[in-house]
Amino acid sequence: MTTGKFDTTPIARELAAMARRRQALSAQELPLPTRTRILTVVNQKGGVGKTTTAVNLAAALAQGGARVLVLDLDPQGNASTALGIDHHAEVMSTYDVLIDGEPLASAVAVSPQSKRLQVVPSTIHLAGADLELAGMERREHRLREALDAHLSSLDEPPHYVFIDCPPSLGLLTINAFTAATEVLLPIQCEYYALEGVSQLLDTIGRIQAHLNPRLTVSTVILTMFDGRTLLSRQVVDEVRSHFPEQTLDAVIPRSVRVSEAPGYGQTVIAYDPNSPGALSYREAAAEIARRGTA
Ligand code: ADP
Ligand code: MG
Repeated sequence: MTTGKFDTTPIARELAAMARRRQALSAQELPLPTRTRILTVVNQKGGVGKTTTAVNLAAALAQGGARVLVLDLDPQGNASTALGIDHHAEVMSTYDVLIDGEPLASAVAVSPQSKRLQVVPSTIHLAGADLELAGMERREHRLREALDAHLSSLDEPPHYVFIDCPPSLGLLTINAFTAATEVLLPIQCEYYALEGVSQLLDTIGRIQAHLNPRLTVSTVILTMFDGRTLLSRQVVDEVRSHFPEQTLDAVIPRSVRVSEAPGYGQTVIAYDPNSPGALSYREAAAEIARRGTA
């Protein structure tokens, strides 16, 4: 690193801090859970960083040695794109699993980013699935049944399943709540950050009472933080006071590299692993891994 008076410039300090974070990350091994953790990434607001969070945590955990499965439940298919998976209308997808009862294994693809990272993509067909599900038997349980059957058929089940939800609280999201063990809630450091969160918590309470008693809101992650603004810092304080146990120490900064990566069919973990956004997602993944075995 630089020495002498250069150490005192803000840029030099930032570079030194990033070097320390990189070192700390490479020195630690991630503990693996003994049972599959199923995290559903939910916020009924669009554009808060659900998909970005799901794919980057998945990639970081896979890089750390875990087997990870991502289920794309958003018709937009942004998670599939970021993980380098084809999702044109003809590929087998979460739609075939949910609506036609196809086995989940028939729709699993392996991400080019890691052999430990598997994906069930979504296709545009999923856009009509909420309506189709409404008329079906056991309509809230279809994902859980497919996932349970899949996990119990495997000799080496994934350590983590991430479910990337659409921006609504419709039947797709309810299927995700029913299938999951944990809710992971991304909150964007923006105006009205907590808007809608009480409605979300009410819904989760009803799911716990009627459909899935094992579900907990285990993790809250702050996204698109901009340290230059007072607003971002206020949101961090407010969210930490609402969710003192659940909020991760790692905060994800707003970073151009994070938003560029999907354009290359990549997560930022693959695209630029030492950029600030990638470091923060790797730190967040390490916290999630440690908390799950604590
Ligand atoms: P959601 O899934 O909740 O709709 P996305 O993950 O798709 O949200 O993010 C919304 C937009 O913000 C996308 O264009 C994404 O690339 C961008 N974005 C997400 N996180 C960051 C970040 N940390 N820095 C910069 N851009 C981000
Ligand atoms: Mg999304």
